[in-house]
Amino acid sequence: MKKITDIIKRALIGMLCLSAVALVACSDTASTSTQTDAQSADASAPVETNAQTEEPKEEGDGVVTVIAAGDNLVHESVYKDAAARARRVTVPTKGYYFDSMYDPIKDIVQAADLAIINQESQICGEGYKASGYPSFCTPVDMGTALMNVGFNAIITANNHMLDMGDEGLLGTVNYWKDKPVIQVGIDLSEEEGDDIAVFEQEGIKIALLAYTDVLNISASSSDYAGYTYYNFRTASRQVEKAKQVADIVIVSIHWGEENTFELTSSQKDIANQLARLGVDVILGHHPHVVQSVEWIQANNGNKSLCVYSLGNFLSNMSGSYNTVGMMLQFDVVKNDSGVSIQDVQVIPTITYYTTSRSGYCVYPLKKFSKRLAVTHGCNAPVSYDAFCSYITDNISEEFLTDYLK
Ligand SMILES: [Zn+2]
Repeated sequence: MKKITDIIKRALIGMLCLSAVALVACSDTASTSTQTDAQSADASAPVETNAQTEEPKEEGDGVVTVIAAGDNLVHESVYKDAAARARRVTVPTKGYYFDSMYDPIKDIVQAADLAIINQESQICGEGYKASGYPSFCTPVDMGTALMNVGFNAIITANNHMLDMGDEGLLGTVNYWKDKPVIQVGIDLSEEEGDDIAVFEQEGIKIALLAYTDVLNISASSSDYAGYTYYNFRTASRQVEKAKQVADIVIVSIHWGEENTFELTSSQKDIANQLARLGVDVILGHHPHVVQSVEWIQANNGNKSLCVYSLGNFLSNMSGSYNTVGMMLQFDVVKNDSGVSIQDVQVIPTITYYTTSRSGYCVYPLKKFSKRLAVTHGCNAPVSYDAFCSYITDNISEEFLTDYLK
């Protein structure tokens, strides 16, 4: 059993202290929101999961806070911006400085115990030249930035996992293997895939699995991608193993169609399959826009919390709908009654950039301002209300904070 513990989070905090040497502000971090602070909706309402308890959390209960972000997709203009920042930091460095792109969101990520992100463009290690669309290869400095921000679970199963071929895939595994994170999504053998990754803290064990239902290159051209490419038989076996070693099973899945808020029949089918298997939380991504969040009840009675698409976390995609993403946050609570998922909340985010395609910065929507909204470099519409509407039109109120209701 692969296992990471709260030691990793402490190691990350240590790294953060060390990384305080270089500070570059986002393009407009001085902006303030006029929105009121948000409180979660129905925050105290526990939801019965497959582990089933109806008891709201109380002092003394074990609680692990989980947060999950969508696609971190490093286009050429993003890493060029990071290169320019590296030249401007307090102690100029070679390479790329991505850290400040996440400054406004960092406190939210760091408040979580388990912070998951889909690293859509692979980080293949030193020796690989940076590249953007269509065959992405992302500088190692992005890996450092993600760890500094507070992410400790990196999803690598997505349609770009073969952009640098099997060599790049192996480089990605090598890059992450000695870092204080868990890499989920690339397995080099069936046995490795069946060796379930488990995050453990406060006596709560959370299993992590990751699959992709989309690949840009056929899985048959790779010695390894087949272990990650979604099929029901593999998922059944691995979810069963995960349930044996953990209290909660989270599955990340890359699926659906790009640039549409509509769900595909394949997404619905797979979500129902995973719910039926007893997966507790399904984290979807790939459409590059947000899609609905639902509690799915399978025909055998099992329930899963499913976010169909978290949207983009960071990218250079052009549509205003591509710049609005979200993080899913929830608590895993363990007490005498069992284990439950509570305080489920969507935290909308927006990737800001200027019309000259610089100043990349990820904001929580509630810290974003109307003034920044009108200077956003994405395609229209660019009003603050338009950005908010991508969330309010697609996400049920029960998962939204007060300022968006
Ligand atoms: Zn994708």
